[in-house]
Amino acid sequence: MTEAVTRFAPSPTGRLHLGHVHSALQGWSSAKASGGRFLLRIEDIDGTRCRPEFTEAILEDLTWLEITWDGPVRRQSEHFGDYRAALARLKGQGLLYPCFCTRAEIQAEIARSAAAPHGPEGPLYPGTCRGLSDSERELRMNAGETFALRIDMEKAASRAGALFWEDDLAGHIEAQPSGHGDVVLARKETPASYHLAVTVDDALQGVTLVTRGEDLFAATDVHRLLQALLELPTPRYRHHPLLRDAEGRRLAKRDKAQTVVSLREGGTSPAEVRRLAGF
Ligand code: GLU
Repeated sequence: MTEAVTRFAPSPTGRLHLGHVHSALQGWSSAKASGGRFLLRIEDIDGTRCRPEFTEAILEDLTWLEITWDGPVRRQSEHFGDYRAALARLKGQGLLYPCFCTRAEIQAEIARSAAAPHGPEGPLYPGTCRGLSDSERELRMNAGETFALRIDMEKAASRAGALFWEDDLAGHIEAQPSGHGDVVLARKETPASYHLAVTVDDALQGVTLVTRGEDLFAATDVHRLLQALLELPTPRYRHHPLLRDAEGRRLAKRDKAQTVVSLREGGTSPAEVRRLAGF
């Protein structure tokens, strides 16, 4: 078995629950079983949802669980320069455009069209700003209108050609980035989207095996595309089934009883929490 470099990449938007522990242990055990490395990354780019006290709590909970990580913790909020460089590269390839639409405008446009195409995360962006002229873009930017940067998906996907990835559980997968439409790669308040930051970071951190929940399976279409455009290596993937409660529902932030802190305060041992998380 080759030495796997894996990572756990939580967003500090709440306390860790058993689902997170399951995910962390997937990466941790794959790294340990292969004599590799397990990295920790805090995905705290979205300043509107992430809080520093949750970052501290994540480190504390993992330490209590004896889930140890190798090397320094990477906090995405400290690496905006890396994401800006990737955006500049995509922009240089003529693949990004500014989108001035508000959420309400996008919804209204989707409601007007009889058969709005849908992607894995709902209706696709209808492309309103894709065709704006350079002069109109400049005019609106100079007027101080806020904008997001979107990728021209059709152009990008045809430039990249057929793309594949290997998933430990699902096998040889053909990426379908076109089905996601012109996704946002940056916004004013969040200078890099999840898709961009995760792709850049996995490459910069030398991750060779991405272990994460199967709810992110489709997102890998976009990550695979960005890897190709940015000439980054493609890791192996392992999209694991989500931990579910007795009724078959996936665990969520609302299930306070399933957080590591409440289990700990209730007297559950670290080994027992790991067992409850399926390990
Ligand atoms: N930060 C993401 C989350 O907490 C996970 C990202 C990933 O593993 O690729 O859902």
